[in-house]
Amino acid sequence: MSSLLNDLVAALSSGQLRVIDLTQPLEPSTPVIELPPMFAPSPGFSIEQISRYDEAGPGWYWNTIQLGEHTGTHFDAPVHWVTGKDLPNNPCDTIPPAHFVGPACVIDVCTQCTENSDYLLTVDDLLSWEAEHGRVPSGAWLLLRTGWAERTDPKEFFNVDENGAHTPGFDQATSLLLATERDVLGVGVETVGTDAGQAGTFNPAFPNHATMHGHGKYGLTSLCHLDQLPPTGAVLIAAPLKIVDGSGSPVRVLAIVEG
Ligand code: MN
Repeated sequence: MSSLLNDLVAALSSGQLRVIDLTQPLEPSTPVIELPPMFAPSPGFSIEQISRYDEAGPGWYWNTIQLGEHTGTHFDAPVHWVTGKDLPNNPCDTIPPAHFVGPACVIDVCTQCTENSDYLLTVDDLLSWEAEHGRVPSGAWLLLRTGWAERTDPKEFFNVDENGAHTPGFDQATSLLLATERDVLGVGVETVGTDAGQAGTFNPAFPNHATMHGHGKYGLTSLCHLDQLPPTGAVLIAAPLKIVDGSGSPVRVLAIVEG
């Protein structure tokens, strides 16, 4: 084994490098995005036992699962959005595997989101983060820490009133800058989707999806434990299932951090 990989294994074994799980539990109560009633809904997660050391299978336990591709902590592929439908390598099975490992930049806007549930990350936010932590490198994930992962009550997580959901997201100019001038892998969020709760009313609608996927970028949603990551320096592993022509997939997102 090369010294680089030897060093990696040794650092993981000694605890100099730690693995942090950024994934929410996947179970029937896992929240799923709710669309206006004229659109087809995505089913949540269901699980049915095939056998459990019983007559149906005396020596083994396994289940059948059913879920929408975009359920719980999941990966959005470019083909998910109409803006990305004609791009090469846009479904889950043909994305280059090197894109499933990359550095993470974490921007914390918890304070802003406490005051305003509809907060959108601005270009100024991004530039002032970069003034402190350096330019977001090409091939990085941009992770938005909003405090939403702590909202374990679905009512607070969705935060719906008579005008719809109120959850934070990205200003379209920020998405465009990240996709084109920073060439990120994509963006990751703690909320149920990579657009703000009100983004269906924006012009264009769902601008982060439209912009990111239109530029071949990816999304990660329903992340947790972002508070355990440094602003820079973590490495993310986020590999969707190899669903042929899949638009997305539940994903186990891991971060490797120092110390
Ligand atoms: Mn999705």
